[in-house]
Amino acid sequence: MDDHDLPRDLPVVVIAGRPNVGKSTLFNRLVGRRQAIVSDMPGVTRDRKEGEALLRGRRVRLIDTAGLEEAAPDTLFGRMRASSEHAVGMADLVLFCIDARAGVTPADAHFSAWLRKQNKPVLLIANKAEGAAATAEALEAFSLGLGTPLALSAEHGEGIAHLMGEIADRLPPAEVRRVHADADEQSGEDEGRPAGPLRLAIVGRPNAGKSTLLNCLLGEERMITGPEPGLTRDSIAVMLHDEHGPIQVVDTAGLRRKARIEAHLEKVSTSASIEALKMAEVVVLTLDATLGVHEQDLQIARLIEREGRACVLALNKWDAVEDRTATRKAISDRIETSMAQMRGLPVVTFSALTGAGINKLLPAVRHAHEVWNSRVTTGELNRWFEEAMERHAPPLVNGKRLKLRYMTQAKARPPTFILFGTRAEMLPEAYSRYLVNGLRETFHLPGTPIRLQTRGTK
Ligand code: GDP
Ligand code: GDP
Repeated sequence: MDDHDLPRDLPVVVIAGRPNVGKSTLFNRLVGRRQAIVSDMPGVTRDRKEGEALLRGRRVRLIDTAGLEEAAPDTLFGRMRASSEHAVGMADLVLFCIDARAGVTPADAHFSAWLRKQNKPVLLIANKAEGAAATAEALEAFSLGLGTPLALSAEHGEGIAHLMGEIADRLPPAEVRRVHADADEQSGEDEGRPAGPLRLAIVGRPNAGKSTLLNCLLGEERMITGPEPGLTRDSIAVMLHDEHGPIQVVDTAGLRRKARIEAHLEKVSTSASIEALKMAEVVVLTLDATLGVHEQDLQIARLIEREGRACVLALNKWDAVEDRTATRKAISDRIETSMAQMRGLPVVTFSALTGAGINKLLPAVRHAHEVWNSRVTTGELNRWFEEAMERHAPPLVNGKRLKLRYMTQAKARPPTFILFGTRAEMLPEAYSRYLVNGLRETFHLPGTPIRLQTRGTK
C-alpha cells in the first residue's frame, strides 16, 4: 500500500452494480473534487478506484467497483460478483445501483440475491431517474428485496443531497463516539450521531440579505472549502469557526453567485434551498425586517418544522428599521400566532450590511442546536407527565377515558417522545397540543419542533 492510501479507520462505502448503470458517475458525484486514488486491489488483477467523500461532516472511504467487471470471465453476474466480492467484504455499506430506465434485469436480480446473503447494509439506488423519469421502473426495484429504492440522477445531481443523508444515517457511529460510548454509556445521547461540524443553512426570500449575511459571517476568515463533494451543482458548503468549533454552512447557488465564489451560475432554485435545509441541523430563516413577515416566510418556516430542524429567526436590515420595538413585536406576534408548533422561536436582530448585532447570531445558533439535541430522562419525564394528567385529565373518547400510562423520549434531533397507553393512538389533537406545550415549557425546549407519537398498549 502506498502512502496515498486513505486512512484505514474510515467507514467503507462500496458502489456496486452492473456495468453502465452509472457507478463511476455516482462515485465522482460523491467524491467531488477530492482526489480519487487508484490502488491495487489484492486478489483482483485490476485497479480499484477509491476516494474520500464527506457526508454530513463524516469522512468515508468510497470504493467504486466500476471497470472491474472485465476481471473475471463467464456470465455477467459472475463478473459482477467476482469484482465486487472483495470490496463488499470490507464494506460498512453497499450502494447497489440499478439503471431505473432499464428496470430490473436478470443480472440485477441475481446479484441482489447474492448481496442479501452477505449480511451487509445495502442501500438500493435507482439511477438515471432525472426529472422523475422512470418512476415505475424504480418502484419495480422493490421486488429485489433490498428495501425502498432511492431514485436519483447521478449525472444531473438530483437526489444526491438526500442520498448523502441516507448514507450518513447508515454509517457505524463515528470513532470518537464509540470511544465515549464505553465510558459514558448512560449519557443518553443519540446513537450514531456523527461527530463533525454543526450544519447550518441560511434560507429566506430573495433579497432578505442571505448572501450579505454569509459574507459578513465569513468576514476576514473567508475559509471557503466548497464546492463540497456530492452537493448538487446548486449548492456548496463553506466552513466557519466559532469558539465551539467548525460550522458548515450549506450554501445555495444564489448565495454563491453573489458571494462571487464561482461564476456562471444559474438562478437560485427553491429546490436548492430545500435541499440545503434538509442537510442542515439548524436553519437561519432570514427576513428583511423592513418588510415584516410575508406568507412565503411562513411557508419556509413550516417546511423547517416539517423537516424537524432547529431554527433561528434572523431579522436583518435592522439598521433600516425605524420603530424597532414595534417592528420586533409585530414580527414575533405574527410568527407566534402562525407557528404555534415552533413556539419560543429564538429571534436575533442585526444588520448584515454594517455587521451591527451579528455577533448574537452564532451563539443563538449554538443554543438552538443544543435545545434540538436535548434529552430528558424517563424519570423526569414521567414525574412531569403524572402532574400534567392530574392538572388536566385525559379526555373521554367514545365515552371512555383514555388510559395513558407513560412516556419516553425515543430520540433527539428533534426531541421525539412516545406516549404509551390503552388506545393512546386515539389521543385527540387538543390534548396532544397540551402535552407538547407542557414539554416545551417544563424541559426548556423553545423554538424547536417537538414530536409526540402515541403507541396503543393492551
Ligand atoms: P458504470 O459503468 O456503472 O461506472 O457507469 P458510468 O458511470 O460510466 O455511466 C454509464 C453511462 O450512463 C454514462 O454514459 C453516463 O453518462 C450515464 N449516466 C450516469 N448517470 C446517469 C444519470 O443519472 N442519468 C442518465 N441519463 N445517464 C447517466
Ligand atoms: P439575498 O437575495 O437574500 O442573498 O440578499 P442580498 O444579500 O443580495 O441582499 C439584498 C439587498 O439587501 C442588497 O442590496 C443588500 O445590500 C441589501 N442588504 C443586505 N443586508 C442588509 C442590511 O443589513 N441592511 C440594509 N440596509 N441592507 C441590506
